[in-house]
Amino acid sequence: MGNDSVIWLEEVGKEDIAIVGGKGASLGEMIRAELPVPGGFAVTAQAFRRFIDENGVSDELFKSLEVDVDDAEILRQAEKNAKKIILEAEIPADIEKSIRSKYKELCKREGKEAFVAVRSSATAEDLPDASFAGQQDTFLNIRGEENVIEAVKKCWASLYGARAIYYRVKQGFDHNKVNLCAVVQTMVDAEKAGVMFSSHPSTGEPVTIIEGAWGLGETVVSGAVSPDYYTVDKQSKKILERKVATKNVMHTKDPKTGKTIDIPVPDGKKNAKVLDDDEILKLVEFGEVVEDLYGSPQDVEWAIRNKEIYILQSRPITTIKKKKEVKEKIATSALLEGLGASPGIAYGEAKLVSDVTELGKVKKGDILVAVMTTPDMVPAMKRAAAIVTDEGGLTCHAAIVSRELGCPAVVGTRKATELLADGTMITVDGEKGLVFEGKKDSAVPAAPPQMQLSFAKSKPVTATEIKVNVSIPEATQRAVETQADGVGLLRIEHMILGLPKHPKQYIKEGKADEYVNELVSRIQTVVDAFYPKPVWVRTLDAPTDEFRAMEGGEGEPIEPNPMLGYRGIRRDLIDTEHFELEVRAFKELIKRGYNNMGIMIPLVQHPSELRCAKEFMRSNGLDIDKIDIGIMVEIPAAALIIDQFIAEGLDFVSFGTNDLTQYTLAVDRNNEHVAHLYSEMHPAVLKLIEHVITECNKAGVKTSICGQAGSYPKVAKRLVELGISSISANIDAVEAVRDMVARTEMQLVLKAARERKG
Ligand code: PEP
Ligand code: MG
Repeated sequence: MGNDSVIWLEEVGKEDIAIVGGKGASLGEMIRAELPVPGGFAVTAQAFRRFIDENGVSDELFKSLEVDVDDAEILRQAEKNAKKIILEAEIPADIEKSIRSKYKELCKREGKEAFVAVRSSATAEDLPDASFAGQQDTFLNIRGEENVIEAVKKCWASLYGARAIYYRVKQGFDHNKVNLCAVVQTMVDAEKAGVMFSSHPSTGEPVTIIEGAWGLGETVVSGAVSPDYYTVDKQSKKILERKVATKNVMHTKDPKTGKTIDIPVPDGKKNAKVLDDDEILKLVEFGEVVEDLYGSPQDVEWAIRNKEIYILQSRPITTIKKKKEVKEKIATSALLEGLGASPGIAYGEAKLVSDVTELGKVKKGDILVAVMTTPDMVPAMKRAAAIVTDEGGLTCHAAIVSRELGCPAVVGTRKATELLADGTMITVDGEKGLVFEGKKDSAVPAAPPQMQLSFAKSKPVTATEIKVNVSIPEATQRAVETQADGVGLLRIEHMILGLPKHPKQYIKEGKADEYVNELVSRIQTVVDAFYPKPVWVRTLDAPTDEFRAMEGGEGEPIEPNPMLGYRGIRRDLIDTEHFELEVRAFKELIKRGYNNMGIMIPLVQHPSELRCAKEFMRSNGLDIDKIDIGIMVEIPAAALIIDQFIAEGLDFVSFGTNDLTQYTLAVDRNNEHVAHLYSEMHPAVLKLIEHVITECNKAGVKTSICGQAGSYPKVAKRLVELGISSISANIDAVEAVRDMVARTEMQLVLKAARERKG
């Protein structure tokens, strides 16, 4: 490879990450392996460095980035200043000349003035393989020398976008040590395109999965269309599945302006197969070459034009779980059936836990089996490969926590503790809700859910905000990785239940301050990780039966029906000694600068509860006018008189459908005997939701959902159609919900456009 500032992609390879960043090196490597990668050149990280140095802007630039990134306004100003410095600086003459001449040569190779994509490929001087994926911008369909020069500068400037600055500061990267190579690559004006997983993305089986749609691949990557779906057995090269979807829209280049536009798919192509068998098998071959090249399964973006296949990008699939080599007998029929509460398949040794004294039995990789899990079991749940319970529905403790931990779970099997003995080897299928004896080889699984396929793709932008639910601080990182627009429910009782003793015990021992500090530090983990995105912290919603099990919890009242009892805001308004400690924690977080926190009040049934809660917070020194205050709509009464709550003054409401469903239908959410009657889609539940959204939209109050139903794409679709402002889903469901919301929004826009026309 030469030392030039601008070099052809074919001149670089994996050893050149420090010069052309990860993306540039990967493209070069694939060209060397004779894969059909569109040609192009790289304006190197060193060229960028010279640009900074020779313009003498280094001091001014890096000084302008020394700001408090936690202040959104200051951060935006820093972005503006830094980008201005870059855009006003001149590219050194020899580098500019070289870019022009390489572009001219590219046009010559193409036989016309070429459209190119200018992509960013960042690299850190001391940590060349650090990942900055998705932090900087890409510019598509650029044509003409001047525009290419302009796009390279804009690409460099994107190194100082607010998100990128924030990310580097939080990750501890020195701005001055991160450089950016701009990759200039011929655009493929794709007739069809999509993604390919060279091996199964969740199990690693030797099955290639291909998704494809008409036009540019963007529609598939962003989830804007349901793509065709093909699977191929890599060994026999047998095409196992060809699922043809209805494809309504396609991204394509406007022949007049050269801009990327959306057009409806012509009628004849809507339900037509995108790929023929030859193309499918050719793609599989390329997938194998890429996989061999990198030595690991790959997530590949591809495009086809005039029957030519192009490989646009490849990166490792990060979701495959290491498979244990197990030779045990393959079970054929399920031993137990329950509710699939957290997806995934795990194999391991059953360990029965009847109470906290037996937690030590559960070693890493074992399967925790219990009548029902309790919060003090969380440490063992973290070690478990899967969880199986006798009792519970999809919103019970085991279900919520296992989803946050990303641990497969089957709940409500009724007799797991009876049928399973310590040491039995079992396979748990958390998707289908089945438990098998021995090793159940998942062989070739059916089409994996959209959620698994969409990992590692860029996320579609949705007008409806997509948020995430968090209950235990340990799940924060996984929650952040969903790239959600905030936290729509932070359940603080799970945090309290994780403490060594009951809050009353702290108070009794004169350690209220210690308790408040514990609360602050746990909530801070989440509000800090999401800053500046909003986090709605819910005041205590403690079920007495769960709190009684804690040290010092003997005083919890024994109730005939805890679900209808002393919980939610009614409890806080009676036990004001505790409510006051919560308020102290909120005040401390605000004092520490967390202006992204909102407060959500659970289980309200009368507007007076909202009024009293607000008065209490205000009289205890919390400036509630500066933060968002909202209620959960969990009781039909609250839904029916939502106008009166609005009149009381509130910023948002959030549907707690777990409770709203149980109270509307008289079906205990944790009772597996009546689980078949529990449906969030019951017309009565939907009618209440629709009424609340209509009234809130009229009054300009935000609406959201944080119950489990928000994690079901089909419910999300309905809510978007009803006009909800945001949806908060479980960590594992955010991707699928976001895809469905994007698709639904697009369908609504198309429908409106057609109606206007016709
Ligand atoms: C609900 O009721 O939907 C909710 C989100 O609250 P929880 O599950 O904690 O009762
Ligand atoms: Mg609830």
